[in-house]
Amino acid sequence: MKEKIEKALKNVIIDNKNIVESGWIKKIDLSNNEIKISLRLSNPTMHIKKKLIKDITHSIKNQNILCSICIEIESNQKIKPIIKNILAIASGKGGVGKSTISTNISVSLVKMGFRVGLLDADIYGPSIPLMFNLEGDSVNCKLSNGMMTPMTSYGVKIISIGFFSKYGQPIVWRGPMVTKVMRQFIHETNWGELDFLIVDLPPGTGDIHLSLLQEIPLKGIVIVSTSQKIALSDVSRSVGMFRIRSIYVPILGIIENMSYVSVSLKRKKEKVHFFGKNGVRYFSKKMNLFFLGEIPMLQEIREYSDLGIPVVLKNENIRDIFLKITKNIIHQLHNE
Ligand code: ADP
Repeated sequence: MKEKIEKALKNVIIDNKNIVESGWIKKIDLSNNEIKISLRLSNPTMHIKKKLIKDITHSIKNQNILCSICIEIESNQKIKPIIKNILAIASGKGGVGKSTISTNISVSLVKMGFRVGLLDADIYGPSIPLMFNLEGDSVNCKLSNGMMTPMTSYGVKIISIGFFSKYGQPIVWRGPMVTKVMRQFIHETNWGELDFLIVDLPPGTGDIHLSLLQEIPLKGIVIVSTSQKIALSDVSRSVGMFRIRSIYVPILGIIENMSYVSVSLKRKKEKVHFFGKNGVRYFSKKMNLFFLGEIPMLQEIREYSDLGIPVVLKNENIRDIFLKITKNIIHQLHNE
């Protein structure tokens, strides 16, 4: 039986090498009609873990072994950050409010009592330092024991790609460089224990996204969009990318930002839908995405962003809107 299992494991190939040759198999236990296989890898991403479980199960069944199979995969990183949930915030276009929403969801999570980190991966426009009032001299992440120490603001631990460039200096990195930096941000940062690590992704779809998605062990994606056709056509490309089978990251839902502006017309409050009414809501139905909620366009949101203060700390209505959206995200996460 053990030989048959070893043969099955040799048929599982990752990166042109079978997993026995790679030295990933730590232990094989056979007991009570159950096969327990333990693997140890240096940096297993969610994508690799899921692929391993699927391929090993398939290969063992191909050997006509009918026992139940239990597969355990652990990381052999010496200092293992304990991060329970890594979620990414994505958008099709830039400027739709992705970073504003990443900021306010992170602070809402802190207010709910969670331990929260925020990783600003938006290499095209790292605005998280500005939104957390962390711009300027004080933002060099210190090294301790070879690990980076995140900055903390409003209870959120933050690492931003913007901390590593001077104000106004363009960040011109190719995909592999970005992936390497992201790996360091996740594995070589003293995050401590976190309930949530929110990753503010760059807008759009591309090489960088593919490598980020494969590198970061994500539990889910939250998409942000406005309602006009141009924004939604880009979002449908993003959804297509996240749904590529080899990536396997569940989309937890979509948020409509800048849904409407409240104006007073003849002493009556009316909603004006600049970008079209319910565009994201209809889109979510068409694409079978959960609608997480809508956020109005409000001068205060922009003003507090510019001041480096998360608006949820200042405006009760907006706080409640973000709280509801954040609870919806957690609910969707538990449904996955
Ligand atoms: P992205 O990350 O998608 O590029 P940002 O979060 O940087 O977008 O937002 C772009 C601009 O829009 C910022 O100035 C921000 O303050 C503003 N903004 C975002 N959401 C709203 C909103 N709901 N109402 C008013 N201004 C907003």
